[in-house]
Parts: sequence; C-alpha cells; structure tokens
Amino acid sequence: MKSILSMLPEMNSWLQEHGHPAFRANQIRRWLFDSRINEFEEMSDLPKKLRADLVENFKFWETKILVQQQSSDGTEKLLLGLQGGGEIECVLLRDGIRRTICVSSQVGCAMGCVFCASGLNGVERSLTWSEICEQALRLSRLLPADERLSHIVMMGMGDPLANLSGVLPALEEATSPDGLGISARRITISTVGIPAAIRKLADQDCRYHLAISLHAPNDELRNQLVPVNAKTGLNAILGASEYFFEHTGRRLTFEYVLLAGINDQPEHASELAELLAGRGALLNVIPYNPVAGLPYRTPEAKVIFRFRDILESQGIVIKFRQRKGDDINAACGQLRRQATGNGPEMPHQLNP
Ligand code: SAH
Repeated sequence: MKSILSMLPEMNSWLQEHGHPAFRANQIRRWLFDSRINEFEEMSDLPKKLRADLVENFKFWETKILVQQQSSDGTEKLLLGLQGGGEIECVLLRDGIRRTICVSSQVGCAMGCVFCASGLNGVERSLTWSEICEQALRLSRLLPADERLSHIVMMGMGDPLANLSGVLPALEEATSPDGLGISARRITISTVGIPAAIRKLADQDCRYHLAISLHAPNDELRNQLVPVNAKTGLNAILGASEYFFEHTGRRLTFEYVLLAGINDQPEHASELAELLAGRGALLNVIPYNPVAGLPYRTPEAKVIFRFRDILESQGIVIKFRQRKGDDINAACGQLRRQATGNGPEMPHQLNP
C-alpha cells in the first residue's frame, strides 16, 4: 500500500476516479504539511466517506518510528524503519529561534569516509523523494503547534548528490508554499563532492546552498580519508565548485572535519589556506564527533585554535560547527549502528 504523501502527485486523478472533488487534494496536502496529525480520521474537514476511502487505500506514513531520542540540549533524533527493511536517521536541532532538521538521502552511504559511521557497511539503496520528505514531516510533528521548521541540512546518511532524483523533488516540496514553505536559502546540500552532479546543479540554477566536504588539503591525504577521492581528485571538485559559483552566484561552503594528529597540523592549515585563497568560500570546521570503535579522536582545544588562527591570518573566512546531541549519538549513522547491532566489534559484517 502506498503512503498518502507518495500519492500526492496523482491525487487529483485518484480523487476524481473515486467520486471526490479534486479540491480535496489541497486539504489533504495541508493536513500533511501543516498539522501534527498522524491519522486520516483526524482530517476533520474531509467528508467521512473520503476519510474511509483514504484509510482503505493508503497508509498515512510509509516509515515506522523505531527509536526516538531527546538530548539534554533539545536535539531530537528519530530512527525510522523503511518498508521492505532498512533504517535511516534524521535529527531536529534547536538553536535559538532556528529549527533545523538533518535529513538522510540514502540507506547507508557508498562514499566510505573512514571516520564516518554512515558508510561503514556501504550503501543499501537510495531513498525515494517521499521517504526523504517524510523525514521532514515526522520531525515537524515534534514541534509545538506555534513553531515551524526553519532550515534543512541534507547531512544525514548518504550523499545527496548520489541521489539527486530523490532529493530534488523532496526539496521542491520543502520549499513550495503548498509544502513546508522553507526558503531555498535555508537549505544546505552537503556532498563529498561529485563533480558531474555539482555541474548539473549549477546548470539547473540551483537555489540551495552547497557544502563540499574536503577534510584534507591534498589528494594524498584525502585519498586516505575519503576513498572516493582516488577517482575524482581535488582539482575536479574545485573546478566544479568554481563553475557552481560562477553560474549560480552562490558562495559555497567547504567542510573540514578535524581529526587529531591526522589533518589538524599547522602544515595542513597552511596548505588548506593556499588551496582556498581567492575562492570567496566559507570554511566550516567541524571538530570530530567520536564514533565508537573507530580510532579517530577530537583534537584538543589548543590545536583547534591554532588551526583556526593560521587560516584566519591568511584571510580565510572560517566558522566552527557546534556539536549538538552528543549524548544521543547524533553524528550521522551512529544510532542505526547501535540499534542494528552493526557495532564496531563487527565492522565487516554484512548489512542485516
Ligand atoms: N555525504 C555528505 C553528508 C555527510 S554528513 C557529505 O559527505 O558531505 C555532513 C558532514 O559531517 C560531512 O562533512 C561529513 O564528512 C561529516 N561527518 C561525518 N561523520 C562525522 C563525525 N563523526 N564527526 C564529525 N563530522 C562528521
């Protein structure tokens, strides 16, 4: 049985075929995007007969909430079970008046970044647009009635640029005034850097903010930390980034996870400053959020400050990402590993 969300594009014709006026589609849409309800019976302005037809023909949700966690800093995380198996994570972050959600684009991840929990068992499949959108609707229901989602970061499991056919239609619903009505400028797509997909986004005049995960200032180190780099290389990524900036006029962000003793030394900072000089990009430095069983550590504060000072002294605009939800394993992929028992002591186990 299909979910009502996944049926929205065909809703007008379905309604007519079942003897209901097409304008009911808009009412159904509002209940999905702008309410806290979880049952067709609660769609109180629909006739009883239509509600009964919906119950009979559709699921309200296509995911199941398997685990719900709340951190002491207000971060909430859901582990969602998919139809046919597989689990994904999504997160709600509260920061001042911001209500940001972090959404997954794939089950697992094919990129294999050695420090990240999401890709340790590879990728199972890409999510459909409605599975991506449903994460947002599930998370919006964690907010009180007078609060709205304000920002989306595509920084959950998977690489969104490896699933543009699912991600872009989902973001259309997120930005549409008939959907979540979130401004495109408040949506960030974060990618390991797939040059062809970056260029494609630029050609489509992408309205979203693009963030590229660098994590190393040269190919030798990046090949070790981000294995797919061996196929692409920094040059192609930086070339595509420039193309994106020229075509969209939008500044990019480069992300850099600081791993103690690995990519956090003064020579890395200097090389990175050189690489980014004149690009007008923002550098987002993320202190590592440790993953159980992996050997990587967060650098000490003084090492982090030294790294920042070197880059700033060379004119790079740098921002630190705050860690949130540490006590609920909010770094992507960690909760799923815990829940499925795909823990660090068996890193080579096949997916359940
Ligand atoms: N696939 C996308 C989204 C990944 S999550 C990408 O590669 O950009 C967003 C960012 O968090 C990425 O830069 C990713 O490398 C980083 N990240 C992954 N695991 C992390 C961890 N344990 N601690 C800190 N940052 C992490």
